[in-house]
Amino acid sequence: MRMFQVCTCGEPLQLNEAPTPKPQGSEVLLRMIAAGVCHSDLHLSDGYFDLGGGKKLSVVERGMKLPVTLGHENVGEVVALGPDAKGIKLGDKVLVDPWMGCGECMVCKRGDEQLCTKPSSIGVFRNGGYADHLLVPHPRYLFDIGDLPPEKVAPLACSGVTTYSALKKVGPTFSTDPVVIIGAGGLGLMGLALHKAMGGHSAVVVDIDPAKRDAAKKAGAVATIDGAAPDAVRQVIAATNGGSWATIDLVGSAQTARLGIDSLIKGGKLILVGLYGGEITQSLPPFPMRAISIQGSYTGSLTETKELIDLVRRTGLPPVPIATRPWTEVNAALADLRAGKVIGRVVLTPTG
Ligand SMILES: [Zn+2]
Ligand SMILES: [Zn+2]
Repeated sequence: MRMFQVCTCGEPLQLNEAPTPKPQGSEVLLRMIAAGVCHSDLHLSDGYFDLGGGKKLSVVERGMKLPVTLGHENVGEVVALGPDAKGIKLGDKVLVDPWMGCGECMVCKRGDEQLCTKPSSIGVFRNGGYADHLLVPHPRYLFDIGDLPPEKVAPLACSGVTTYSALKKVGPTFSTDPVVIIGAGGLGLMGLALHKAMGGHSAVVVDIDPAKRDAAKKAGAVATIDGAAPDAVRQVIAATNGGSWATIDLVGSAQTARLGIDSLIKGGKLILVGLYGGEITQSLPPFPMRAISIQGSYTGSLTETKELIDLVRRTGLPPVPIATRPWTEVNAALADLRAGKVIGRVVLTPTG
């Protein structure tokens, strides 16, 4: 098999070859059909997340072993099964939930493998889908997609379930009040589409890029705000009739978190999703006095992925712009993403 791997952090992915694995035990081998290119692949190939103030979170210190094949938004066709892989058959087209834990601890048993303290996620801690084949440890991570188009389903594994899980954290005001979404890139447009499909009231979108604000407007945002405007906080407060009850920050920079916190209404919540990086200094008394909260949200659970696929079957696929490229162009696709040239999502497909 051939795969694109991070061999040295900060350098382009390298095309390597290895024997195609034979599935053992509960393992399942897929032939890759579609692999979404995600912004976090940039951090993973750089080797770190920016913690702000010159501090870095090294992904290698966190347990990423090199070389590793990136790619965590994967759809493939089942081509071989281990003897204990049940509930799945050859020829099935499946979406892979990449957010794997140890499967043994209390957190995993509760169903939150994405929060396991010993993560083994596909495309991060084990080989991912920028390859012609992908080995998955257990069928519980696989979801039959039937006739749904693979290139549109692949992004559900990360950008889909990440925004779905964040939207679920909004709580009881979801259908009665506006939600503020900061960031109208791939995640933001996915979030807008799912917000609508889930019965959300309305969405106010913040982005510093006019082209992305336009895309958000076309995708149904009731208002779009330039996050770099000097009065951005005031604009968000005006658009939400006095302040936001729930803001989802899909960027996660010092500027967006600041804007998110400062434009909450009393009792409001900032749901922090994006991993852009940085740090803020925040006075403590406003937390109790304004009764505000910040909640982190990291990908989603297997149950949420299942719910999301059911939702998509009922309401249709999110109309997020998807561009396909041959999988051998992965380094060019990552470069375009880094340069901010991608509207929606790029999905890699096989080259015959
Ligand atoms: Zn991702
Ligand atoms: Zn675990």
